[in-house]
Amino acid sequence: MGIIYSQFCLDFQIPSEMARLKLRELEQYLGELEGFQEPKVKLEQYETRPHIAACMLHTIEASFGDLDGKLVADLGCGTGRLSIGAALLGAQLVVGFDVDADALNVCKENIAEMELDNIDTILCDVREITLRDKQAPFDTVIMNPPFGTSSKGIDMEFLRVALSLTRGPVYSLNKSTTRKHVLKKAQQYGVKAQVIAQLRFDLPATYKFHKKDSVDIEVDFIRFCNN
Ligand code: SAH
Repeated sequence: MGIIYSQFCLDFQIPSEMARLKLRELEQYLGELEGFQEPKVKLEQYETRPHIAACMLHTIEASFGDLDGKLVADLGCGTGRLSIGAALLGAQLVVGFDVDADALNVCKENIAEMELDNIDTILCDVREITLRDKQAPFDTVIMNPPFGTSSKGIDMEFLRVALSLTRGPVYSLNKSTTRKHVLKKAQQYGVKAQVIAQLRFDLPATYKFHKKDSVDIEVDFIRFCNN
């Protein structure tokens, strides 16, 4: 599948042969997980492909040390690919949030299959998450949110909530065509945004309205941070 993987390698030298192996292993594990059974177009259910998920998570850990031993939230976790990957890279606890019970059922099966006991799932609309006290509960937030094709503006609502859940970094995938808007929003929210890599998502023809076998879209992998 076509992603600009080399960009990860160029920007972030993978430190050792061992880490390289780990990346390959991670991709292999993530490739074995079950996907959405009947993806819901309204909820923009597209899984992050194993290769992209593995590169993204590996970069988060190898270049920034933001997973190992951390409390991690995964917003719009779907079938759990990012949550499970984060757990495999040493997160202390991962909490996956999704509005779709069917997706979470698959997610729970995937977690059980991987024999992981450090991932919780919460069925809720991410936009409605509110904090009881002011303290942000998570160290790191990861997400491949809906891009806003069905529900305009939802990507930025996810970002707003993500930033409220952590004083640390938020790692997100966003459509490259919205980059200007996303960077402007980040400025409004008072956080720094760093585009780590641009990826080519080759979306398979999951939905009936897709006329071609697959559609390529450019996606930014962005790190938002308070400092
Ligand atoms: N993170 C997963 C799935 C990405 S698809 C992966 O990387 O593979 C986007 C996910 O967001 C879907 O699982 C969808 O059900 C979920 N979603 C869409 N709108 C939502 C909302 N308002 N609140 C919570 N989850 C939502």
